[in-house]
Amino acid sequence: MNTAKKDKRFSFEFFPPKTATGVEKLRDVRIKLAEKNPAFFSVTYGAGGSTRDGTKNTVTEIKQAGLSVAPHLSYGGDDTEALLELIAYYKSIGIDRIVALRGDIPSGTGSTRLIHANQLVEFIREHTGEHFHLEVAAYPEIHPQSKSYASDLHFFKQKINAGANSAITQYFYNPDAYFYYLDSARDHGINVPIYPGIMPITNYVNLARFSDACGAEIPRWIRKKLETYKDDMDSISAFGTELVTGMCETLLAGGAPGLHFYTMNQAEPTLALWENLGLD
Ligand code: FAD
Repeated sequence: MNTAKKDKRFSFEFFPPKTATGVEKLRDVRIKLAEKNPAFFSVTYGAGGSTRDGTKNTVTEIKQAGLSVAPHLSYGGDDTEALLELIAYYKSIGIDRIVALRGDIPSGTGSTRLIHANQLVEFIREHTGEHFHLEVAAYPEIHPQSKSYASDLHFFKQKINAGANSAITQYFYNPDAYFYYLDSARDHGINVPIYPGIMPITNYVNLARFSDACGAEIPRWIRKKLETYKDDMDSISAFGTELVTGMCETLLAGGAPGLHFYTMNQAEPTLALWENLGLD
């Protein structure tokens, strides 16, 4: 790893697999990615508790492999007892980092309860003191439900005031949005590290659908370019890898404290970026 990058933090995100085959596949992916010595892996959580067991099992397996892992957690469909039990379980197996979120209630769960992330941060601090390093979400392109840029920053600050230690961003493909957001956060007195979330580009249709839902913008020129490849997945990957590598270079050179990769449970797209960035 070159010296400019050696003080940066790198982490890899997974989602809990739903099938036995998925569990095995993820094990292989994790083994490959663990060779890169990330600061931690993280495992998403279906708000409303839809992946409670899947997240717990995946986190436990990664921890038992001797690796650092952070469960994502949201309050939504869980009652206080269930949430406390889960947090106590994580603590008992040596987990010391949680990604605390409001989450989005998955359709079909029947639950509509959403508890804002600042309240979850407060809750974890109240019950476990400073045991956990708490990560929260941040949105350089602004959360889709936010009333305004200022209101989003205001609520981001509430999460930090409640005791969050650092933040990971929603993915984006416009580094200027991130740098502007960093400056704005500093102007609001937010001084925690804000790690860019990096989504490799491998499948345009899925990416476009997901981006529309979560409010991440794919700049028009990138959409147009990706559309020209149609079903040619190799060309989409090649273009995506080159584009995202360039963006990561810009982010790291411009002061990003590290990168958090949304691996989508695949090793190759993240490893291609890792290699291009010369992070070994
Ligand atoms: P909040 O911080 O609560 O913000 C949600 C919205 O409400 C924002 O518009 C905010 O401005 C506003 N707001 C915040 N606090 C208040 C308040 N006190 N009063 C009024 N308004 C407020 N989703 C999952 O379901 N599972 C996951 O594992 C998961 N992992 C993620 C990891 C990262 C790094 C990121 C960036 C997102 C992740 N998400 C996940 C998606 C996330 O849950 C959604 O974006 C969700 O809509 C918002 O979650 P939040 O924690 O940012 O919510």
